[in-house]
Amino acid sequence: MTAPITQDVLTLPRKAPEGLKPNLIGLTRPQLRAALVDAGTPEKQARMREGQIWQWLYHWGVRDFASMTNLSKDYRAFLEQTFDIRVPAIVTRQVSADGTRKYLLRIDGGHEVETVYIPEEGRGTLCISSQVGCTLTCSFCHTGTQKLVRNLTAAEIVGQVMVARDDLAEWSVPGQPRKEERLISNVVLMGMGEPLYNFDNVRDAMQIVMDGEGISLSRRRITLSTSGIVPEIARTAEEIGCLLAISFHATTDAVRDRLVPVNKKWNIDTLLGALRDYPRLSNSERITFEYVMLKGVNDSDEDARRLVRLIRGIPAKINLIPFNEWPGAPYQRSDWDRIEAFADIIFKAGYASPIRTPRGEDIMAACGQLKSATERGRKSASQIAAEAAKG
Ligand code: SAH
Ligand code: SF4
Repeated sequence: MTAPITQDVLTLPRKAPEGLKPNLIGLTRPQLRAALVDAGTPEKQARMREGQIWQWLYHWGVRDFASMTNLSKDYRAFLEQTFDIRVPAIVTRQVSADGTRKYLLRIDGGHEVETVYIPEEGRGTLCISSQVGCTLTCSFCHTGTQKLVRNLTAAEIVGQVMVARDDLAEWSVPGQPRKEERLISNVVLMGMGEPLYNFDNVRDAMQIVMDGEGISLSRRRITLSTSGIVPEIARTAEEIGCLLAISFHATTDAVRDRLVPVNKKWNIDTLLGALRDYPRLSNSERITFEYVMLKGVNDSDEDARRLVRLIRGIPAKINLIPFNEWPGAPYQRSDWDRIEAFADIIFKAGYASPIRTPRGEDIMAACGQLKSATERGRKSASQIAAEAAKG
């Protein structure tokens, strides 16, 4: 509880980087309207202009003001001079044998983040990032070996969804029938970074994604995964209302301190206390407990039984994640029969216990493998091993 975990996060100011016009992407509706008014749009027109521009950006997915044909030519020219419509640029796109697509995206400042699209029977999940790197140092996570570079802006977070929709040709096309099937039916904040250490930008981006006149994803189709930043959990319920997944991963504080070091600040007991209120606050469904299966570390029958005891009373499902190995990782994946035995104990206790099928492993796109190869300041394999060994 006492170990100091410092947060040294650089958040870009809302104003555009030097030399660039302010970006309209990533502004919430009230922010968009305020930006239009500040730039000289008469107050009386602002609400209507906001609605029109919003639809172009988030329903039709257009990227140039000239295409916004229900605005006057003069107003389009004014927008063009004043603002930008900027989303991250795709640097590379890798497609796995199983159809998973991994995008490496470049954002302002030349940094890179990863976004993964996972097609499944009847649904498609987009896994998005919230930070470049991560301040936390979970010892089994590849992202955790990379220093935090900076928080993503709301534009860069919603921009990941927009870029994936571009690649999948998912935007509505004027004059064509509305597409019924959704290629991106779900969004999970399970890419790089700790979303609750970038709360405001994540919230604003998700409000844009949920808006009914745009991308229009229901809050029940968005899952935010956190390592357990307790003070922000109630805010997630109140201000976003999405589903919650918790990177639980251990059943004793001694082991969780080692795997998810933020546990030293908010331990298992404190975390579970915050979770007991979540479904009530957000009127949401069950909480997902994510549990990475590490051979000989957290995968015993005793762990499974303790897990069930700990979460008693919380509407929950448990998602077992076979450890995705990465070069230099200090752990191994539990054997398959061990994972099944663990799942069986949980199932018999009355919980759904799906085992997550690793996807896109051939392109290093699986959970916890994301890391931009270009970032400097990585830790060495020996540092990672030393941290994993620390109690
Ligand atoms: N920072 C957030 C979200 C990103 S990680 C969090 O920690 O919850 C998404 C999920 O993948 C988390 O449950 C994380 O613990 C898990 N994960 C990280 N590295 C992994 C790995 N190498 N193999 C399997 N799961 C991993
Ligand atoms: Fe950060 Fe999540 Fe990885 Fe932990 S598991 S280092 S919180 S991205």
